[in-house]
Amino acid sequence: MTAIVKRLFAVAVAICTTAPAHADGAAAPPPLTAFVHVNVVTMDDPQVLRDRTVLVKDGTIAAIGAALPVPAGAAVVDGGGSAYLSPGLADMHTHSTTKRDMAVYLANGVTTVLNMGDATPEFVGQVRPAIERGRLPGPRVVVAWRVDGSQRYGNVMVTSADEARALVRLAQTNGYAFIKVYNDLSKEAFDAFIDEGRLRHVPVVGHGVTSVGILKQLAAGQVLVAHTEEFLYTGFTQPPAAYPNQAPAVAEIPAMVRTVRATGVYVTADLNTYATIARQWGKPDVLTDMLAAPSTRYVSPDRRLDWRGEDYVRRHGSLDARLAFLGRFTKALADGGVPLVVGTDAPSIPGIAPGFSMHDDLDRLVAAGLTRRQALTAATRTPGEFVSKYVPGAQPAGVLRVGYRADMILSTGNPLDDLATLRKPLGVMAAGRWHARPELDALLDTVAKQYESVCGNTAH
Ligand SMILES: [Zn+2]
Repeated sequence: MTAIVKRLFAVAVAICTTAPAHADGAAAPPPLTAFVHVNVVTMDDPQVLRDRTVLVKDGTIAAIGAALPVPAGAAVVDGGGSAYLSPGLADMHTHSTTKRDMAVYLANGVTTVLNMGDATPEFVGQVRPAIERGRLPGPRVVVAWRVDGSQRYGNVMVTSADEARALVRLAQTNGYAFIKVYNDLSKEAFDAFIDEGRLRHVPVVGHGVTSVGILKQLAAGQVLVAHTEEFLYTGFTQPPAAYPNQAPAVAEIPAMVRTVRATGVYVTADLNTYATIARQWGKPDVLTDMLAAPSTRYVSPDRRLDWRGEDYVRRHGSLDARLAFLGRFTKALADGGVPLVVGTDAPSIPGIAPGFSMHDDLDRLVAAGLTRRQALTAATRTPGEFVSKYVPGAQPAGVLRVGYRADMILSTGNPLDDLATLRKPLGVMAAGRWHARPELDALLDTVAKQYESVCGNTAH
């Protein structure tokens, strides 16, 4: 592989440094950039566009063509005819709330994240705008406010329709795009969230709510299911015997897929998350291995401590039958035309590191029988469609097309031939800001060193 990737402008690499500021305190706008001699995987066209020029202006894809003239003053990134440009990835289920996690995401080619709970006002009000202004490296951040009918999972509790309506207004004021509903919500509150959310354009996403049931939630207008396993709990007929060892009947899958498809809802394909829970279920040694895994260096010491406290390793029985069922269900959803988005639940599940787990989920989807194009679509095009559809004012993203956000990964190989090429990109562009491999490595190193300085090498 001989792709030559040149960067003609310098960048600050330390995570704590900010981009050069203008006199008014605003960060510099994204520069004009020309990718030349790149093969473009648009995720819009069935074929690869060979040896193209892609021009990026003001954070947006301005032109894609063969041998376009390079505008004066443009930074040039040369793919050497052999490198591939494909859309940045989206993790549509995270609990990451720090600027360091955002840098780790970016270094893994992730250019959109949907925070599904735990977002702090600092994260929403300071970190997110700093990324948007180019003052911190990171992906586009979309945030859901998680609500429940009890405090047993540590959520904000909502007990009445009035409170639900007020919370939707508060969510909107504070820049949350979605309400994430949780297990214990009352039907009255759920209905109010749907109704007020529709009025205010703050749609409902989330779990199955026990008092309502996932299929009724979808019929009412919930737009995203946070995990495929929600269908196990309140969708499929419960297996006759004990949790967790038994799975529902495979014969129920086709009808479920048709029902879900008819609602138009999006479903989070989080197979690797469930597989990771299944792997450590009742097995303390597995957690020890996870804490020593290379990607754990990029998980905050705080989260590693939480991982140690999780009780999956002390559970009894096995999730393997349910995991196998969810693999078949996910493949059936993909083949049945249900829009799937990749989500990881990072970093709240032990073993799930931000960014790195994105690639693990893609691999797991392919292992479950999805084509590489189906898996990559769930990480690029479909999340892009979802955000455009439900987040007012969001710039379109997720495919490489003129007018779309310039969120892209430059890789040595074609990801549709081998998804592993996305694990170590030659560079990542987020909203028109280019981060070449040396900068991505420096971002990762800085995060790891900061964590080591807090807890030493024995943190795992
Ligand atoms: Zn979650």
